Amino acid sequence: MQSSDVVRAWGRILRGYRPSLSIEITTRCPLSCPGCYAYQPEHLAGTPLESLSDFQGDELVDEVLALIDRERPLVVHIVGGEPLVRYRELNALLPQISRRGIYVELVTSAVRPIPREWAAIERLNVVVSIDGLQPEHDVRRKPATYERILKHIEGHRIYVHCTITSQMMRREGYLEEFVEFWSDRPEIGQIRFSFFTPQVGETSIEILTAQMRERAVADMDRLGRRYPKLLVSPGMLKAYLSPPQSPQECIFARVTQCVSADLETVVTPCQFGGTPDCAQCGCVASAGLHALGRYRLPGGVRVGFLFDASHKVGAAARWGRRAIA
Ligand code: SF4
Ligand code: SF4
Repeated sequence: MQSSDVVRAWGRILRGYRPSLSIEITTRCPLSCPGCYAYQPEHLAGTPLESLSDFQGDELVDEVLALIDRERPLVVHIVGGEPLVRYRELNALLPQISRRGIYVELVTSAVRPIPREWAAIERLNVVVSIDGLQPEHDVRRKPATYERILKHIEGHRIYVHCTITSQMMRREGYLEEFVEFWSDRPEIGQIRFSFFTPQVGETSIEILTAQMRERAVADMDRLGRRYPKLLVSPGMLKAYLSPPQSPQECIFARVTQCVSADLETVVTPCQFGGTPDCAQCGCVASAGLHALGRYRLPGGVRVGFLFDASHKVGAAARWGRRAIA
């Protein structure tokens, strides 16, 4: 994004729109990854994702464009289920979103080939979820194995996203091996890490202990200096160690409208749904915006303070719009 986009985003907030829209484009996924939040019962407050009636074909294209034109975001996140299940519809949809001047981040397991023509679509970032080194990843995310991913990303420039789990932090040097492997590949534009984010009270084996989280942050700090493709900043490192304590403190949750596959059900309070344990949040997007919120402008005012004030103005504008509708 450029500085003009930041100004546009601020304008949207002041007028009561959310600049970011996340769409669960389908209920279907051929994988069954451990720790996947989309298929947990709490994700949609007890309604299983698979039970929603989702769209296909021209209807999906038309309904998504109508939603985008209503919500007027600057960035659209397309998530799943597995978006590539709907690759035919996305072939039609993605160029039309791009022509509206909107950025798209599409998150996929790369279980099937990423259509070659997507490489030429402006403002499209394809983010491939790769959870660890090959031995662990291939077990967790079969059939989207390393072998398939390497074949399916050929000719593209993609972002790698890895969710760090406690299993990865049991072995010294694991993160470095991961970053080294993917940094060396010409198809990779950026590498991002998130930490597994549990629901309140969850006891999953994936959850990092406080010591593991500290060690992962120290590793990321060191690796960021050595591997320029790794997305990391001092502010983000601080945010991973001290995330927002609630959705109300989370700028990412407040600027992002999350909609599930029927294009009506709203996922709250953030993309995880349910009651996420914000104090253990490791979401890279949340960390990035939390870091931005803590940034002090010349004169000492925190960006987060300005955001809160703008958000209140936006809420009033939204209320006014509804009242005269
Ligand atoms: S690929 Fe994504 S949506 Fe599908 S099971 Fe894995 S984490 Fe869940
Ligand atoms: S993204 Fe993280 S901090 Fe933000 S609401 Fe969700 S769990 Fe909480």
